[in-house]
Amino acid sequence: MTETLLIAGASVLGAGGADILVEDGVITGIGTGLSRDGARVIDADGLVALPGLVDLHTHLREPGYEASETILTGTRAAAAGGFTAVFAMPNTSPVADSAGVVEQELALAEAAGYATVQPIGAVTVGQKGERLAELGAMAGSRAKVRVFSDDGFCVFDPLIMRRALEYVKSFGGVIAQHAQDPRLTEGAQMNEGVVSAELGLAGWPAVAEESIIARDVLLAEHVGSRLHVCHLSTAGSVDIIRWAKKRGIQVTAEVTPHHLLLTDELVRGYDARYKVNPPLRREEDVLAVREGLADGTIDVVATDHAPHPGESKACEWQAAANGMVGLESALRVVHQSMVQTGLLEWDDVARVMSSAPARIGMLDGHGEPLEVGRPANITLYDSAVAGTFTQADLHGRSENSPYLGRELPGRVEWTIHNGVVTLAEGAVAEELVR
Ligand SMILES: [Zn+2]
Repeated sequence: MTETLLIAGASVLGAGGADILVEDGVITGIGTGLSRDGARVIDADGLVALPGLVDLHTHLREPGYEASETILTGTRAAAAGGFTAVFAMPNTSPVADSAGVVEQELALAEAAGYATVQPIGAVTVGQKGERLAELGAMAGSRAKVRVFSDDGFCVFDPLIMRRALEYVKSFGGVIAQHAQDPRLTEGAQMNEGVVSAELGLAGWPAVAEESIIARDVLLAEHVGSRLHVCHLSTAGSVDIIRWAKKRGIQVTAEVTPHHLLLTDELVRGYDARYKVNPPLRREEDVLAVREGLADGTIDVVATDHAPHPGESKACEWQAAANGMVGLESALRVVHQSMVQTGLLEWDDVARVMSSAPARIGMLDGHGEPLEVGRPANITLYDSAVAGTFTQADLHGRSENSPYLGRELPGRVEWTIHNGVVTLAEGAVAEELVR
């Protein structure tokens, strides 16, 4: 039993006002003039109702790096950003390369209760790129892993990549590749281009991403398996995915909010909050990934939420860690970069931030349209306001956000996870009423 909720006057995918009734964690009514005795009434007048957001690419850091984030704090950040489910990358300590670790993550997430956590399994043992991890055991475990990735590292050996793609076919799994040729990016500090030349920093060339994506789509075609490309960041990568999809190759791709908004010009200030892998690219790349997301070449916006403690960022550029937190700001950045520019409507946002990631990751109960009979995973967003993004907007354990001090549109007001209110009027619920 959970609370009965009456969401009054929400704009369901911008289509006009409607009430949504939630009972026992399920949507039991949608229409106008609904009422229910004893229900907690949520005034959603003027708010956009979206299916609960799903992040295909989150680093929760637990087990092993609890100083940066835990499953509890990471899912709290997720709730603050409107997410009801996150896929957790396996670069923990120990690495999530066995049934035992992914089941441990699942148990911690169930106890936290702020969001559904779907573990991603490592492709190779210890993410060392040498031999395949126990993919079948993770798939068959209680965590039902369907997405495998060595994210943080590229599966560089083509034979191991081929075998991984072949192996996951038996249960419809997918390999999510962090596309980065390690040799072409040795010592890289930022995007290779005009700015890196001026600053004298070692560059991370676009071809180091594009050559791996080109190889991998051909491998996926050759073995007839599913490939997902993580955090695609260059114009050339968009072209390759467009070509591969036209050819019928089973490939999907994601882009991060920061690659939709920020450019390598920001590196000039040497503020390590802008250091990320893959790096911030040129303006031309930002425009190309926006276009690729708008025309469906890119399927998903995924945060690559990567928490780091202060000392990993408060140092000189070369020594700083790569990565940004992104869960709390993702929807607002997509609002600014894609909706305010006229490239996406709110139903497209529901597709790229909820239904597509759930479908690619084969996660049931999430990413479904707001309809009677569906699990009540709902995000209510105020698109009419704007405000400065501050520390108060962050609810995880780390504060390495590139948006601090930046004006962003919108505000996530309510998040409802399986009928439980996890965010209420912009405040993360201290206690979850179940
Ligand atoms: Zn990555």
